[in-house]
Amino acid sequence: MKEAIRQAKKAYALGEVPIGCVIVYQGKIIGRGYNRRNTDKNTLAHAEITAINKASKKMGDWRLEGCTLYVTLEPCQMCAGAIVQARIDEVVMACMNPKAGCGGSILNILEMPEFNHQVKVVRGVLEEECSAMLTNFFKELRVRVKREKELRKMFLPEKIRELIADEKYEIDNIGMSESSVLKFKNKILKVQEYNEEARNEYRMLQYLSGKLPVPLVYAHEISNGKSYLLMSKCEGEMACFHEYMENPAILCKLLANGLKKLWSIDISDCPSDQRLSRKLVSAEYNIKNGLVDLDNVEPDTFGENGFKDPAELLQWLYENKPEEELVLSHGDYCLPNIFGIHDEVTGYIDLGRAGIADKWCDIALCYRSLSHNYGGKYKYHANNTYLDYDESCLFRELGIKSNWEKIRYYILLDELF
Ligand SMILES: [Zn+2]
Repeated sequence: MKEAIRQAKKAYALGEVPIGCVIVYQGKIIGRGYNRRNTDKNTLAHAEITAINKASKKMGDWRLEGCTLYVTLEPCQMCAGAIVQARIDEVVMACMNPKAGCGGSILNILEMPEFNHQVKVVRGVLEEECSAMLTNFFKELRVRVKREKELRKMFLPEKIRELIADEKYEIDNIGMSESSVLKFKNKILKVQEYNEEARNEYRMLQYLSGKLPVPLVYAHEISNGKSYLLMSKCEGEMACFHEYMENPAILCKLLANGLKKLWSIDISDCPSDQRLSRKLVSAEYNIKNGLVDLDNVEPDTFGENGFKDPAELLQWLYENKPEEELVLSHGDYCLPNIFGIHDEVTGYIDLGRAGIADKWCDIALCYRSLSHNYGGKYKYHANNTYLDYDESCLFRELGIKSNWEKIRYYILLDELF
């Protein structure tokens, strides 16, 4: 069942209802499947059908006698029918599906004495884990649908509306940003609260244009306290895409190249100062105004093994200010903010915190982002466990020794933003 859950997580990562299935013969898995109904636009793409297909190929027979099928949710009428047709011996299921299940809920196709084959059924195995996964999925789906509805009704400034006309768009869900990102065929519209970061992003996009591969600004409008930034799309792939994640050596090279490129920019006329003397003042402002997101902190930052509260952390940050090695810093150098083709950066996005700062700020956030993505912390990568990521790779590519004190300092500082 654990392996069936792993399959279900693949569906989850695709935004599909998380249902997974495996078929076991003589102690070995001979077929796996997960729900891909929307992805494949196919009614038949249920987890069980896919697993049966694969198992039949492996067995070289449509009869799956002697097999046990594990599935995270009670099968529907189609799958229960296929299970009986395939003469599978036993079905082990986690949760029941009172609205559509045909393994005991609405019908019990699996155990009907009238058919020529009856299946042995076990119910409730790892039920809690599977039902929590489903509950979470539907909770997130409701939030997503609501947000999309709001966005589709959203007021857009005249100039922006003219430029995008009636072009179709998708709403981007990757990353953790609080802004809304609308992806058009060749353009991106970023809508966010008009604050210091929105102001700085626009300023830095103009400043860096021609110096670094940054999006081209088509329009920037401010209306009703919101910033509407219409930009070109970056070429290449996001650094957290599977192809990169599967090639940690190239990914580290890409990220290191991106950093070196940033650091090569002459900062004498850079319009944005992000040095600690200013950053700590902004952090103080965030604490005073309740803008620190305490739900999204690294474990042990606060509480028994960490700081009492954000104010105590800020105090510590003031007292332990490191020597700054000033460069042009991205300010949020994490994988979803970097685009590349092979090991060359083709785009830097989310430049709201970019400016003059210590180069270790970028190294720290890059290091943390690599660990998070490889550690499977994000749902986006939940179906993959990448094993051969070597933490020293980034430093090797940068040609510098890791400075853990500074890395810890900047990761802690980031908790206040
Ligand atoms: Zn089904």
